[in-house]
Amino acid sequence: MRKFILLCLLVLASVAAAFLAVSGGQTGSSIHRSSSSAVSMTKNTDEVAAAAAAAKAFESSDKDGAGPPTVFDKILSGEWSSDKVYEDDDAFAFRDINPQAPTHILVIPKKRDGLTSLSNAREDQKSLLGHLMYVAQSVGKKECPDGFRLVVNDGKDGAQSVYHLHIHILGGRQMGWPPG
Ligand code: AMP
Repeated sequence: MRKFILLCLLVLASVAAAFLAVSGGQTGSSIHRSSSSAVSMTKNTDEVAAAAAAAKAFESSDKDGAGPPTVFDKILSGEWSSDKVYEDDDAFAFRDINPQAPTHILVIPKKRDGLTSLSNAREDQKSLLGHLMYVAQSVGKKECPDGFRLVVNDGKDGAQSVYHLHIHILGGRQMGWPPG
């Protein structure tokens, strides 16, 4: 009888040990989850910091209001290569170098003409803005038949990092709301 009780206690201890091990694993995975969300927070913080630095650099070097050259000038001139998706007389679309979705394309005006950001648009640029929007939907529905999102980041709080107007086309996955 004593042996039987000892055996039962042993079994109970093993079950308890196994349970604790499993709980430990879950704690480990929740740490993993929180650390991965910390990674995205860090990434987001990096983006915000980069955008703040870009806004500051832009303000200090924009002497004539036309805006200093950007990386998109190098892409448009062919000095830097890009993965072109679409081009016409006024618009150019190419794949983002740091995609935030399976499909991530930028649509830009070929001539910036002061369009450093959307909030800098002049009234005489309304039809160009409409054209860029038209190109964005045309490329978007072709590349992302199940739907897509258009984004225009504007200024420091909008986390804009390149001061040449661009429309982001994001798709190929389910988008969430609100955006970050
Ligand atoms: P924003 O933060 O709205 O100003 O977006 C600028 C975008 O330009 C970012 O998504 C960058 O990844 C993208 N970008 C910067 N340099 C390049 C490049 N050489 N080729 C393609 N995309 C670029």
